[in-house]
Amino acid sequence: MIDFTLTEEQEKLRKLVRDFAQKEIAPRARELDEEQRHSPEIVEKYFKLGLLHYPVPEEYGGAGLGSLEGCLFAEEIAMADGGVAACVGGNSLGLTPFLQAGSPELKRELLPKHCSGPNLAAFCLTEPEAGSDVASIRTTARREGDEYIINGTKRFITNGGVASLFSVFASEDPSLGHRGISAFMVPGGTSGITRGKKEDKMGQRSTDTREVIFDDVRVPARYRLGEGRDGFKIAMTTLDESRAGVGAGAVGIARAALEAAIAYSKERMQFGKPIAAQQAIQLMLAEMTMRIEAARLLCWHAAWLHDHGMRNTKESAVAKCFAGDIAVEVTCDAVQILGGYGYMKEYQVERYMRDAKLHQIFEGTNQVQRLVIAREVLR
Ligand SMILES: Cc1cc2nc3c(=O)[nH]c(=O)nc-3n(C[C@H](O)[C@H](O)[C@H](O)COP(=O)(O)OP(=O)(O)OC[C@H]3O[C@@H](n4cnc5c(N)ncnc54)[C@H](O)[C@@H]3O)c2cc1C
Repeated sequence: MIDFTLTEEQEKLRKLVRDFAQKEIAPRARELDEEQRHSPEIVEKYFKLGLLHYPVPEEYGGAGLGSLEGCLFAEEIAMADGGVAACVGGNSLGLTPFLQAGSPELKRELLPKHCSGPNLAAFCLTEPEAGSDVASIRTTARREGDEYIINGTKRFITNGGVASLFSVFASEDPSLGHRGISAFMVPGGTSGITRGKKEDKMGQRSTDTREVIFDDVRVPARYRLGEGRDGFKIAMTTLDESRAGVGAGAVGIARAALEAAIAYSKERMQFGKPIAAQQAIQLMLAEMTMRIEAARLLCWHAAWLHDHGMRNTKESAVAKCFAGDIAVEVTCDAVQILGGYGYMKEYQVERYMRDAKLHQIFEGTNQVQRLVIAREVLR
């Protein structure tokens, strides 16, 4: 049987996050965008709502919720501010390798502390010379006694300046390519970590993105995840898990743009009637609606597969790619519907357009998603 209804609990949580996002985040979005400022106050309030660490099992201090709930939250938060959605989503992304491959002992050691406050994690994979080509990372991890020593530079790290826990991918043997990569958990206060300069971004400016430099950073050997040298696989399964939520964030931005366009088109009078009475505008609104609804279902499907223990590599790539593409199209159309006013900062839709663009780039570009999809269908 196929059931498209959310449970009573999921509806309740969605409303909780929607109300929170509209009351606490949306009114501040323009200011955070202009000042390019991460807001610890919003993160703290979201933590108090009990959902910041939603994917962490209850036994370690989280809410123990699944990917589908993650999609609901991402859409609502991104509707208010795409950057805040990336920030809190970045926490889940940073924790996912740990949740997937950390030992129960290490989880007991690090997670309750992380989940006891408005702490943020970050996922450190990308490097200056290794973006789409993940296997070419140059960060190294050298074993010395009971420790690993990590050296390297990670670039474009969401929450890079504010995270208190990092998941870091480093090679134990660069000559082995992707087979030499391991994943490590690194507490943010470890000596040898430098937070680089904050990036000046086109959009999603309320999230803190920067380089993180690891210079002889020592972690206990037990902070390595999985069996070791399986870091590439851990990174890929992490991205399979997270891409549905990233797509849902794109849906949220697109929905905000659609709602702004609908409201404006009913009020703007030209040629003696609201522009919403023009069929050309109606067709655009219909097209935007179709794209958003299709993207949401793709994200929910990818998340549902994950929550039911099924492989979702193809579906999560489809969802992330489609949702990112339609978010760019829908937000551009919203600017068009607002005409000259759409181009002005006062009306916010230009921010949605800038915020949406990132969804075609991060967590694997949409070209890379198409390669993943093609590989899956050609298997
Ligand atoms: C704001 C922001 C936040 C980010 N947050 C994080 C984070 O938290 N953690 C993290 O690890 N990374 C993060 N990233 C990095 C992001 O995942 C990378 O930017 C992305 O994977 C692309 O890598 P690149 O920028 O080096 O581009 P490149 O890999 O250099 O790609 C450049 C262009 O070439 C295309 N291309 C490359 N290879 C191929 C190919 N084989 N076939 C076809 N086209 C190809 C790409 O699609 C793209 O259009 C973030 C990036 C941004 C912008």
